[in-house]
Amino acid sequence: MNRREFVRAAAGTAMFTRITGTFPSAASYDLIVRGGRVIDPSLRIDSVRDIAITGGRIAAVDRDLRADAADIIDARGKIVVPGLIDIHTHAARVKDGPAICLADGVTGFIDAGSQGADRIDDAVAITRTAPQPARALVNIGRAGILPDGDTMDLSRADVGAARAAIERHRDILVGVKARLSRDVAGNNDYDVLRRAQEIVTPFNLPVMIHMGQTMSPLPRLMGLLKPGDIVTHMFAPPPNSIVDDNGQILPEVLAARRRGVWFDVGHGRTGHLRWDIVDRVLQAGFWPDTFSTDWTVEGRTAGVIDFPHVLSKFMDFGMTLEQVIARATVHASRLFEVFRDRGTLNVGAPADVAILELRQGSFEFVDNYKNVRIGRQRLFPSGTVLGGTRIPRP
Ligand SMILES: [Zn+2]
Repeated sequence: MNRREFVRAAAGTAMFTRITGTFPSAASYDLIVRGGRVIDPSLRIDSVRDIAITGGRIAAVDRDLRADAADIIDARGKIVVPGLIDIHTHAARVKDGPAICLADGVTGFIDAGSQGADRIDDAVAITRTAPQPARALVNIGRAGILPDGDTMDLSRADVGAARAAIERHRDILVGVKARLSRDVAGNNDYDVLRRAQEIVTPFNLPVMIHMGQTMSPLPRLMGLLKPGDIVTHMFAPPPNSIVDDNGQILPEVLAARRRGVWFDVGHGRTGHLRWDIVDRVLQAGFWPDTFSTDWTVEGRTAGVIDFPHVLSKFMDFGMTLEQVIARATVHASRLFEVFRDRGTLNVGAPADVAILELRQGSFEFVDNYKNVRIGRQRLFPSGTVLGGTRIPRP
């Protein structure tokens, strides 16, 4: 047998073993996540499976995989999903932000405008050293998030400064964040958004707007959004929510979605989400494209807690477990290039996995206005695998 024949024969054996699983010693993987209820909307799977991982990638998703592995995670009784992707966080505001999110199952995040051009290097440094794939949006207000309003003074919406920041960090900065509420932008919302588009035009990047309680009517702002832009805080109450008093979604909002503008939850802590608006929007059939937390360290003890908790808030109220998981995985992977091959457990994809616990009971779910509703089930983070590596629980 010459070398080529030997390689071919060996490959044939390996393939045979993979299919039949009758030679346990022959198929050996780095890691197996065993016996969990695998929910992967990208593959339309919702059943008990084993996930085998080798070389940092998904090698097999199978029932009763008979194989060895250097490491095995017993996921029986747990929910196993593709690693969660959170497109609106402020994880790059604090040094350990990315690691905390990772332990919650978040294997990819966007820092959405924690810093403006003046201090963007800080946010970029944290984003760049995050263990998981991560990118950031530059706040159009050059001084970043200000208690008195990022762009109350319109001169802070500095096109040149933001463009220079993006040019300096093309690999990390993937868009502009424009916060448009009246307490942030005052009367300037329309001009701020126009400048945001001016900044990104030469780079062909998206703008993420923070909607709700704006001075300008929402239809006027919608008119400035292009395909690929993102509207976050989609459940913000009036003035200027996406739904009118009769429960109708504004025609300009429907038109924006039709032309490719994304609508994102952006849970947050104040002013962004009220249960009656959630009900009205979901009843109108206008579902979020993506879930996101608007994560901050402060949010961990107030309202947000963690990404699985935010997902849980919608499960008893109009959406299924599979539907919320889809929006936190495969849907979110479509918004930014960095996540394109993620949000899935497809064979060959990077092995990012979130292991969750679905507990039954009585759980208080609070909106941004201290309104409480009781849910009967809640997801808790239980384990994370990033690129095939098991992340220890803190
Ligand atoms: Zn935010």
